[in-house]
Amino acid sequence: VIEIGQPSHSVVTTCAYCGVGCSFKAEMRGNEVVRMVPYKDGKANRGHSCVKGRFAWGYATHQERILKPMMRDKITDPWVEVSWDQALDRVAKDFTRLRATYGANAIGGITSSRCTNEETYLVQKMIRAVFGTNNVDTCARVCHSPTGYGLKTTFGTSAGTQDFDSVEDADVVVVIGANPTDGHPVFGSRLKKRLRQGAKLIVVDPRRIDLVRTPHVKAAHHLPLRPGTNVAVMTAMAHVIVTEGLANEEFIRQYCDWDEFQDWAAFVSEPSRSPEAIAPLTGVDPAELRAAARLYATGGNGAIYYGLGVTEHSQGTTTVMAIANLAMVTGNLGRRGVGVNPLRGQNNVQGACDMGSFPHEFSGYRHVSEDATREMFEELWGVPLSQEPGLRIPNMLDAAVDGSFKGIYIQGEDILQSDPNTAHVAAGLAAMECVVVQDLFLNETANYAHVFLPGSTFLEKDGTFTNAERRINRVRKVMPSRSGMADWDITLAVAKRMGAQFDYTHPSQIMDEIAKTTPSFKNVSYALLEEMGSVQWPCNDKFPEGSPIMHVGGFARGKGKFVVTDYVPTDEKTGPRFPLLLTTGRILSQYNVGAQTRRTENVLWHDEDVLEIHPHDAEQRGIRDGDWVALNSRAGGTTLRARITDRVAPGVVYTTFHHPATQANVVTTDYSDWATNCPEYKVTAVQISPSNGP
Ligand code: SF4
Repeated sequence: VIEIGQPSHSVVTTCAYCGVGCSFKAEMRGNEVVRMVPYKDGKANRGHSCVKGRFAWGYATHQERILKPMMRDKITDPWVEVSWDQALDRVAKDFTRLRATYGANAIGGITSSRCTNEETYLVQKMIRAVFGTNNVDTCARVCHSPTGYGLKTTFGTSAGTQDFDSVEDADVVVVIGANPTDGHPVFGSRLKKRLRQGAKLIVVDPRRIDLVRTPHVKAAHHLPLRPGTNVAVMTAMAHVIVTEGLANEEFIRQYCDWDEFQDWAAFVSEPSRSPEAIAPLTGVDPAELRAAARLYATGGNGAIYYGLGVTEHSQGTTTVMAIANLAMVTGNLGRRGVGVNPLRGQNNVQGACDMGSFPHEFSGYRHVSEDATREMFEELWGVPLSQEPGLRIPNMLDAAVDGSFKGIYIQGEDILQSDPNTAHVAAGLAAMECVVVQDLFLNETANYAHVFLPGSTFLEKDGTFTNAERRINRVRKVMPSRSGMADWDITLAVAKRMGAQFDYTHPSQIMDEIAKTTPSFKNVSYALLEEMGSVQWPCNDKFPEGSPIMHVGGFARGKGKFVVTDYVPTDEKTGPRFPLLLTTGRILSQYNVGAQTRRTENVLWHDEDVLEIHPHDAEQRGIRDGDWVALNSRAGGTTLRARITDRVAPGVVYTTFHHPATQANVVTTDYSDWATNCPEYKVTAVQISPSNGP
């Protein structure tokens, strides 16, 4: 007998929001979730959760879920519900036709970092082996692609160096361009606990985030730099460390390329890179910067955590490499309590990158031009593969506008909302002959789609997510798929209709193929995950139970590489028309553009995004707290309510981007990172003025 309101059984699975990857027990009554309880044996969260994860199940049963496939001839036609067979036949037929008419390079796709490893692996496999092109990309393009490039260049692996437990041994923590208590709350709590125990904190952020001063925690140093000057500040910290004789030469001689270090040391030592010289540019007090650099270099174990405030810049990759330089010059790598730790935004953005979602890399970050790797895949998949890197998302859209790119398969990504220059994205999508959107809800991108394939939530399928500490967590099906097909099943069906011999019957078989083809996953299997709970890659013959800490006793690339990081100002300039700089972030209760959190209980805690304005800037313009404000940039404009606060410095305004009405990306520019095309979301020159409202 089951009492009403009482669960009948429970299933352990993984939160599908942020890169912390908390484990939950979904307590069920039949096929209904009664509640989600943080799982005490979850290695990433150890029994804790945040308010997003607890209510995440709400969007699975939301009335706006699309549960039937739909299609239409033109994007101006109304949607027509069809059977799965009709929709899948249409997708396969359209991509086959486009490939035959225009060539394989006229089509491509995007994998979703919200989907499982197995699902992203399958999409990139379909695009490479069935579409016949490397035109595959993922949403990491707009968030942490500079992390991948920067850390692979300097250390040899495109991932953070530590596990979350490592923070328990940190003596000095540097938080750069991240707001862990809102963006990664469960890790943020662990960090606060360590700070309450006495670890020192340095915050590098234009805004006074909560960590700067919160009950029982006060940052030793807050460097409120002007948006866009990260590289200058990181290099000035290096200047202090090198010129004051604080470099860890023993570590550098043993583990890094000494000649490259000497070139780099000469570069950072130049007087023009001192804290005093860069102060007019960055707005950072030189004495504070010097003290922060000394503390990081001499305060014991120094750990750096960073977020999108580092990567989403025209010099995002340069900043990642500048951070890596700081860790190497101080010897803060290869043991607990130290390291370089990107706080990855999405639940499986690390995994999507690991699985070969980039146009130049197979799974495990191996370049498509590497003969041995490509030949291994060709033999296994039974088809020739291209050795030319494919198109990135912005390049696919450019090519579509130019008329040479005709069709795209989009797995769980709303590029119209999340990518820069909304008008250009819309023009690219509108120019294509076939746009397929596979998602839970009719998102903004679906306005330009010809076929909509209803996907499944994390509660409706089996698989794995890989979190920010490289931990591979099991995702377990707790209820049947409401649309009838999990996302991996949908991709499989499309590929088979296009002639592929994909014969998986369960995601565990896809993971077996991943393990076979990807050295860092060699020992990973569902059986091992059942036994261990979770493992961190690399998990192979050398590290059969995974690797909590990387680069122990030497770097993955051999010698650590110091890279000269010259500061190049962004092309986005303030001036008389646009005198302020806009930067963006998140709040605790909401997730990204809110597509999911706005369809859960979390909607109670957030009904609009507001624009934070310094009192000085507000007074100059006659803006009072709560007034409507017009926010305009060279790219476009939107309207928000004002919040007058000295959390932001004069000259800087700040907003979140959780509500669709905010349309933050109408305002942002299309400047991007020089190496990866990651958009420069964090620096936009704007003007604000009183408004009567939207
Ligand atoms: Fe954990 Fe992040 Fe989910 Fe919150 S949103 S429960 S911190 S994984």
